[in-house]
Amino acid sequence: GLSEKLQNVFKGLKGKGSLTEADINAAMREVKLALLEADVNFKVVKEFVDSVKQKSLGEEVMASLTPGQQVIKIVNDELTELMGGTGSKLTYSPKGFTVYMMVGLQGTGKTTTCGKLANYLKKNGKKPMLCACDIYRPAAIDQLEVVGKAVDTPVFTMRESREPEKIALAAIKEAERKGCNVLIVDTAGRLQIDEELMEELVRLKGAIKPHEILLVVDALTGQDAVNAAEGFNDRLGIDGIIMTKMDGDSRGGAALSAKKVTGRPVKFVGTGEKFDALEPFHPERMASRILGMGDMLTLIEKAQEDYDEQKAQELEKRLRKNQFTLEDFLEQMGQIRKMGGIGKLLGMMPGMNSRAMQNVNVEQSERDFVQMEAIIQSMTREERENPSILNASRRKRIAAGSGQPVSKINQLVKRYDETRKMMKSFTGKGGAGRMNRMFR
Ligand code: GDP
Ligand code: MG
Repeated sequence: GLSEKLQNVFKGLKGKGSLTEADINAAMREVKLALLEADVNFKVVKEFVDSVKQKSLGEEVMASLTPGQQVIKIVNDELTELMGGTGSKLTYSPKGFTVYMMVGLQGTGKTTTCGKLANYLKKNGKKPMLCACDIYRPAAIDQLEVVGKAVDTPVFTMRESREPEKIALAAIKEAERKGCNVLIVDTAGRLQIDEELMEELVRLKGAIKPHEILLVVDALTGQDAVNAAEGFNDRLGIDGIIMTKMDGDSRGGAALSAKKVTGRPVKFVGTGEKFDALEPFHPERMASRILGMGDMLTLIEKAQEDYDEQKAQELEKRLRKNQFTLEDFLEQMGQIRKMGGIGKLLGMMPGMNSRAMQNVNVEQSERDFVQMEAIIQSMTREERENPSILNASRRKRIAAGSGQPVSKINQLVKRYDETRKMMKSFTGKGGAGRMNRMFR
């Protein structure tokens, strides 16, 4: 994938003490190819590469970074900028009642995302209601009702009506009557942008004056998703993009070029079929994820959500000091399991690229975790704190104690070592700033 390719380019640069213009040109040729292969819009790629090249050649080399690191930093910063800088949050109407209108082509995930958004809003203290304005298929209304039930949110329907404006206006009244403060309006989609649909959506927009129009696009469709976004924005005007199916085999190009091409930010990404699989989009984190720096920020944020803050701070401190014992490793894995699936979280850890993530079988990961736990519990305190003392006879004893073959013990120690090494790479030369940035 893109991430792997870029990391390979940078592996070549990292070690070099000095970089010539030819080195940079060669690296940028590779970056260009990788981005094109990831289905990033051609114009966007050209501008991006030119800008990185210019900055790499122009900038004075900072004392704390090697030239290679400097180029990586420039690429990281430019990727972040490309995806929208600091990120754009969902906004609420100052009037106290917020209407969101969800639009998008058929099958992109509108109805599912209505449920995810309701779930997200409830977690943020809002009282949402859903409204079924896909008037063409009765099944669409049924689907939204199922979704509403799953996220414990009321759904407004008018099965006999063929007028989305009328339905949505009645829904606003009903929502206010019920004491809800957000209405999420699900609309019909088509396989392609067509005039009839656009006219219907423009009329609906005029009638209900939504606070935000959120366009749902499918990341798997690559540049088509970006073209659809451009079309909807030109005709209807949108406020933000929700990019679904980022958990799938997407080549990533859509997330990279949507903002640049449409001028509208990606506000959320969908990362699964479940209703909690919606994440606010953070360009800076996505950039470091693509470049293989992992996404410790997201990891730690999740840890803070689901665990107590103190534990996360302890982990952060240990990471900073590079005191990372097997117990920390186990605890981290335990948190990950608690947070809902190793597969999803592995991609956020340094060194785990999307390919590695795709190959992760979640059930297998769960089994691995239980085995890992058993192995570490069979170690003495000393062994957990200083795994370098684990010689053959100790490993044999632990294997017998945990009921696992010695190969599993070896595997675990290797995994631990790799993780620790990655941690260390963040605390080396110029790493303090990088660490700080990652934890902020
Ligand atoms: P709509 O036609 O735009 O309303 O799309 P639906 O909400 O009916 O979704 C179409 C399909 O996409 C369903 O099977 C969803 O479960 C699936 N889907 C939606 N969002 C995601 C996502 O973020 N990841 C994955 N893997 N599937 C998704
Ligand atoms: Mg739908």
